[in-house]
Amino acid sequence: MNVTVFGTGYVGLVQGAVLANAGHQVVCVDVDSHKIERLKEGHIPIYEPGLESLVKENFAEGRLDFTNDAVAAVAHGDIQFIAVGTPPDEDGSADLKYVLAVAETIAQHMDRHQIVINKSTVPVGTADKVKARITETLAARGRSDLTFDVVSNPEFLKEGSAVADCQKPDRIVIGTDSEHAEEVMRELYAPFNRIHEKIIIMDVRSAELTKYAANCMLATKISFMNEMANLAERLGADIEMVRQGIGSDPRIGYHFIYPGVGYGGSCFPKDVQALIRTADGIEFDAKVLKAVEARNYEQKTSLFQKINRHYESDLQGKTFALWGLAFKPNTDDMREAPSRVLMEALWMAGAKVQAYDPEAMEETQRIYGNRDDLALCGTKEAALKGADALIIVTEWKSFRAPDFELIKQQLSQPIIFDGRNLYEPKRMSKKDFIYYSVGRSAE
Ligand code: NAD
Repeated sequence: MNVTVFGTGYVGLVQGAVLANAGHQVVCVDVDSHKIERLKEGHIPIYEPGLESLVKENFAEGRLDFTNDAVAAVAHGDIQFIAVGTPPDEDGSADLKYVLAVAETIAQHMDRHQIVINKSTVPVGTADKVKARITETLAARGRSDLTFDVVSNPEFLKEGSAVADCQKPDRIVIGTDSEHAEEVMRELYAPFNRIHEKIIIMDVRSAELTKYAANCMLATKISFMNEMANLAERLGADIEMVRQGIGSDPRIGYHFIYPGVGYGGSCFPKDVQALIRTADGIEFDAKVLKAVEARNYEQKTSLFQKINRHYESDLQGKTFALWGLAFKPNTDDMREAPSRVLMEALWMAGAKVQAYDPEAMEETQRIYGNRDDLALCGTKEAALKGADALIIVTEWKSFRAPDFELIKQQLSQPIIFDGRNLYEPKRMSKKDFIYYSVGRSAE
């Protein structure tokens, strides 16, 4: 099938490559012409396991192409995906300007029946807005004779395993009331729907809300566990035991109940906020979501509070080794990353940071530029050299079993502030470390 994808970010690029790999003929279009040029030369703008080879292979075999020519892009696809950003507006609601700009572009160049699919995360009612924008634009062109469908098809991929998630989706949610659109969508996704039925057809509004409900539920689990961790810490309990104790109940499960330093990334913070604003807009007080957001905001500062308390509020001139910058492992995404809140608080207090991340160093350099109080180090060992303590913010696999003797040798004092509970407090104490973790009272 001929497919056009607007937006070559995490969602558009991955979805485009995965659809091409299944045999569809895909054109990805982006307004960022530099990105398009680089993609054509084989430079992948983001880090996702498996993405680079997938893009290169499908590009080389002619199933995947990149363009900034909107006219050619609209002409290509019987299916037009909208996969552009929906960043928070000033008040936290989802800003739809990119989504509606794409809707307008499609309507300006459309000359046959096309299916417009909203893959971006958008508030309930957006499909109606997309429909209205296309209808107005077609009318202005004198082409009200053209028909089209607008479908909601939210994306559930996880950064860090985006390719695998798209290749083997848990479910494919399709919001439509059009039989024709449903049939075309079933054909599009047939290669991903072979082992058992994954397609869930529903009305458009329910599909739009499903995406927010999914992200808000996951954010709720994280904030809930962080709240329990705070309680455990103060009550002399061990949150890791509590986690196992509750996870063993199949109604709760082990997934997504890890305490830490708060959720980040481009989705959870913005989607929780956007749903709160949607609720405000209909004068409904979303009490749970507001609490989830407030807990997360505090949790992001919790590691700094521990560090500050340990040094009795005297961080001036201290140097900290920081392992992990990305908001989670296997990505280079730094959007809303807890590491940023921590580093900025350390800098404000007069401390320096020597940081290492397997993938997010370039992105950190781009965000913060060159500054005297940030050294980006080539290895995790180099980051330790002469530092007063080690701080761990992202649970990359390579941090799980480090050489503790070397850590001790390199640090001026054997102190670790661990925001991800990577090590056992008792073992750390035997190794003569002062070890702070999350939700476990033992140091
Ligand atoms: P992104 O910021 O990585 O990429 C968006 C891309 O769209 C950019 O390359 C931008 O240049 C391009 N763009 C903007 N306006 C355009 C236009 N008029 N025409 C063509 N291209 C245009 O965004 P993302 O992370 O891929 O997210 C896209 C959407 O998917 C958002 O709504 C997000 O909430 C949702 N989503 C994201 C994830 C994720 O993990 N990142 C997962 C599921 C859903």
